[in-house]
Amino acid sequence: MAIVVAGTVAYDSIKTPFGEMENALGGSALYFTVSASFFSPVKLVAVIGEDFDLSKIGFLKEKGVDFSGIEIKKGKTFRWKGYYDYNLNEAHTLETQLNVLTMFSPSLPEAYTEESFLFLANIDPELQIRIINQMKNLKFSAADTMNYWIESKPEKVKEAFSLVNAVTINEAEVREITGEYNLVKAARKIFDLGPDYVIIKRGEYGVLVFDKNGKTFFVPAYPLEEVFDPTGAGDTFAGGLMGYLAMKGDTKKLRKAVVYGSVMASFNVEEFSFNKLRKISKEEIEKRFQEFLSFCQVEE
Ligand code: AMP
Repeated sequence: MAIVVAGTVAYDSIKTPFGEMENALGGSALYFTVSASFFSPVKLVAVIGEDFDLSKIGFLKEKGVDFSGIEIKKGKTFRWKGYYDYNLNEAHTLETQLNVLTMFSPSLPEAYTEESFLFLANIDPELQIRIINQMKNLKFSAADTMNYWIESKPEKVKEAFSLVNAVTINEAEVREITGEYNLVKAARKIFDLGPDYVIIKRGEYGVLVFDKNGKTFFVPAYPLEEVFDPTGAGDTFAGGLMGYLAMKGDTKKLRKAVVYGSVMASFNVEEFSFNKLRKISKEEIEKRFQEFLSFCQVEE
């Protein structure tokens, strides 16, 4: 089954303790798509400016990604500038230029609206709401956000969360939106909005999954020797998770999907932009998946 994803397509300028890169390809929707396309066809919803070089993401078309939901507007593409210090779990935003995002009012192509899997990647929550309201046959939907939107449109973020089955959110952001430091209590406040699952991303400490029935699942992060650039790890994680669920067409396989998400994120952080993801094979994904399983195995 295919997945519809809506989010940003961006030019990022990033500095980490290990290097810097100007105008790197990025954005929540692009990271998600590169990752999910290893598992399922993806239908992308995004806006770009006239300055965006579409040929740079032409490789995605060969991987079955549908570009008919991409709008090109007069003006500049969304830009994000940020840095990380040695605490790579925390991105510091230096500049957010919304640019053409402010003119975006998507009407989905008819074929998109029939799909059953939807990921609302980090983008203006008003757009997230507009998009989910156009979907007619949803089986599973999830949403993400970030501090920029939590601080500027908190009520809209909560409304978007109330419309999805799962929320994927990082640790600092779930604390910010709920006003709860304790993650169990924070998850409960998200459940009060409506979702069945709260998936909290904790960077190098892995991911915590809470479900509404009180079950908890935890996956560590891959203990990498070299972490180069954590940008996009969250979106790449969501791409692996949603991609696997859509491939199986079975939302009960959530735990396996969370492990695949963790596998994809672990590759992504090894190089700038999604350069590493472009080089890996399905065999490498499978090998790392098995390693993840072994992290939690005990002796007979
Ligand atoms: P992540 O590291 O997974 O949280 O996502 C990183 C991506 O989010 C970058 O490639 C940015 O272009 C994008 N991004 C940064 N700020 C925003 C924002 N306010 N809204 C949507 N996307 C953003």
